[in-house]
Amino acid sequence: PEDIRVYEFAEKLKRPMSDVIKVLFDLGMMMTKNDFLGSDEIEVLSDEFGVEVTIIDPKDEFNYEEDLAHDVEEDPNAVKRPPVITIMGHVDHGKTSLLDAIRSAKVTEGEAGGITQHIGAYTVEQHGEPITFIDTPGHAAFGAMRQRGTDVTDIIIIVVAADDGVKPQTEEVIKIAKDSGAPVIVALNKMDKETANPDLVKGQMAEHGMTSVDWGGDVEFIPLSAKTGMGLDDLLENILITAEVLDLKANPKVPAKSAVVEASLEKGRGPVATVIVQNGTLKVGDNIVCGSSYGRVKALIDENGKQIKSIGPSHTAQVAGLDTVPPSGEVLMAVSSDKEAKEYAHKRYEYDRHKELSKSTKSTLEDMTAMI
Ligand code: GDP
Ligand code: MG
Repeated sequence: PEDIRVYEFAEKLKRPMSDVIKVLFDLGMMMTKNDFLGSDEIEVLSDEFGVEVTIIDPKDEFNYEEDLAHDVEEDPNAVKRPPVITIMGHVDHGKTSLLDAIRSAKVTEGEAGGITQHIGAYTVEQHGEPITFIDTPGHAAFGAMRQRGTDVTDIIIIVVAADDGVKPQTEEVIKIAKDSGAPVIVALNKMDKETANPDLVKGQMAEHGMTSVDWGGDVEFIPLSAKTGMGLDDLLENILITAEVLDLKANPKVPAKSAVVEASLEKGRGPVATVIVQNGTLKVGDNIVCGSSYGRVKALIDENGKQIKSIGPSHTAQVAGLDTVPPSGEVLMAVSSDKEAKEYAHKRYEYDRHKELSKSTKSTLEDMTAMI
């Protein structure tokens, strides 16, 4: 690999840089401290200095996600879990309106005077069956999560305004949805408008490989209006039917693995992260690691601003207690001790630093260790 510089090599070997440069020079290689060493040079140098060089990927060093991951597929104790939904669509087609309409229609049921607050995700109930929605604008959070391999989304809702049809961003999200492999439900929004033309939308969507069930395809199109509330129940029913087919499972009895939907620094509360639990149960008091930050769950706050003791699979809450603000899409996991949390976080910090370094200099994520 060509991502280690002459001075870095000298540092690793604890040799004066001039020695390294001299050896290279004697072999006819003119290099200065900032030049990158190729594998040939590294081989020559390790012979000359009598060291054995191993190239390691630092990612292998801190694989807590793999260390701690729990294989749900193989778990006989896995039980049914609610679906997690992401809503995508062209700007102004009604994503925010739809999320707000579902939330205000459903989320406070049974919560006397509950004041809902925006925390980036919320759970509603349809006939007693929970459904969790990721409540962040656009598909940014989805992208961030995918990039980090924290695919929490089970079902994608593509909103298309029935009076406007397929637009560039609709095409974009169709592609994203296809790539993700998650099942799609199309919300034909703004059906209250006189100019609504659902057949036009169905035709356009069919051209993009998303054919409505009533046109012989396999995608459900639900006519609705985020404005009047018409069709919202149909949408939720359809989500439940789709989820049933997916046979979603998790084991609530293992330590939590969750994904950060969004996070910020909040006055008086410090770093606060909204998470969706993928597996296990996250509890107040748990030692947690989240990328390079760590801590202990000081409080869990739900979308009604209420303090809760724990959240199970597919459920969401704000987590207070991390030492720094993690990025969206990061994995937050419960570990067995404060020491373990600190260790994982530190390793991850080192890894991120390396990655940053190699990005600013040259490619790859590899590091070099030398054993004398
Ligand atoms: P987003 O950009 O996809 O989040 O779209 P918004 O939810 O912000 O909606 C864009 C505009 O469309 C706003 O002015 C909404 O009031 C309006 N709108 C959203 N849904 C409906 C609907 O079902 N019917 C009508 N008539 N207007 C809607
Ligand atoms: Mg919006």
